[in-house]
Amino acid sequence: MKKLDVFIAACKAERWRWRNWICAIFAISRLPENHVPEPYDIDYRDDGVYYYDDTQKQWVLIEDSKPNEPLYHYRWAEDFPKDFFPNHPGAIRTTYGRAIYNWMCLIYPFGDAIEFINKQVTSKTAVPLIAPITVDDDANVPAGQKFIKASQIENHLSALSQTTTLAPLIAPTGTWRTLIPSKKVLQYIKTAIAAKGDKLTRQDLVEIQENAVKLDKEYLAEDGESLDFYVSGTTLKVRRFKQLYMFGAVDAFHEDGKYDLIVESLNEGIPVAQLPAVFNDGRQGSYDRGLDTAKGGYGVANYQQITQNLRVVQGDCGTKIVHHVLLDEDGYRAYAVEAGFNKMVGGKPIPIDRSDIGKIIAMRRPLVCKHPKPTYCSVCAGSTLAKTEKGVRSSVTKVQSDIMYGFMGAMHGNAQETATFDIDKHLR
Ligand SMILES: [Zn+2]
Repeated sequence: MKKLDVFIAACKAERWRWRNWICAIFAISRLPENHVPEPYDIDYRDDGVYYYDDTQKQWVLIEDSKPNEPLYHYRWAEDFPKDFFPNHPGAIRTTYGRAIYNWMCLIYPFGDAIEFINKQVTSKTAVPLIAPITVDDDANVPAGQKFIKASQIENHLSALSQTTTLAPLIAPTGTWRTLIPSKKVLQYIKTAIAAKGDKLTRQDLVEIQENAVKLDKEYLAEDGESLDFYVSGTTLKVRRFKQLYMFGAVDAFHEDGKYDLIVESLNEGIPVAQLPAVFNDGRQGSYDRGLDTAKGGYGVANYQQITQNLRVVQGDCGTKIVHHVLLDEDGYRAYAVEAGFNKMVGGKPIPIDRSDIGKIIAMRRPLVCKHPKPTYCSVCAGSTLAKTEKGVRSSVTKVQSDIMYGFMGAMHGNAQETATFDIDKHLR
């Protein structure tokens, strides 16, 4: 059998369920001693790669395999026959990596409910496809309609977490370009800073860094694989930039609010004259980290205490007060999707829906509730809070947690960026 045939037969035998099998097809690996062979086990030998044929009870050389080379690469594309993937009836050209993703993360938890995803994916790619067709476990769904039961989501999540641990085993841990700076980028930074001379502002620096990161991305794109797995936005803009290109601007203890600029990268070493600036930067980071962690922890406890008596009861307090809101896309997401707020139409509360975007609606929200406090009615509270009578405190506490995560994330390094401000949107 050839490589492709082995892959197809093995996947039909559900070998993608075995983590060691997936590692073995994408990376040279060795079977443990005294291993009892399973169908389509992979064995790397001096003369090529073998698979275990369970019907003949023997190891068979894979015809087009090469010794000392992984059997497949996640980027290799093949024409897969029709009816091979349960979630795609026709023939399809796709990569081995996407094939494994679909088997593990879509077919295993959902069968054929989600159509084959034939593009580069992240952990969130399938979410917009899963959410609209997910129903409660005991819901009645008309025959012929594709759906996902809520309890199936757990299998999707566990498959996703498996893929994160597989990535380092099937992809290179580094390439030359991830370790060595681009000469073009270094030259660009040097020239751009020199061109501004004494008039160099913080704004100029932000722009220079943005351009440099763009050039660096092009440089890395030439070996592609590093961009696929190891170079996130933060890596490019903070870690990689400071390490290879320029330490950058550091807030300084100057009266005039000016900054210190360190043009050397960490790899080049910090000049002795700049040591105080670098130490101040590190000390400030360390202090902020301690302070913000403490504030975040206190905030969560404080919010819990304030909100622990809040309740949401089913029913309508009957208030006549409403807030008139012009609903846009952002408002729809916050009020309808996240909070599940109601609008008043002809004296009756109705959930806000997509058709309200662009209209002025008479909205009910907790602020207008006339139920005796600390209790709110379910119509004013919105359907999300109304799901659990005592759930308000965890929702409110999440606000503080999110603030803390924001600060913590910023402490792992942040990059200044320019953005276009849409003044019309904010004046409307
Ligand atoms: Zn109310």
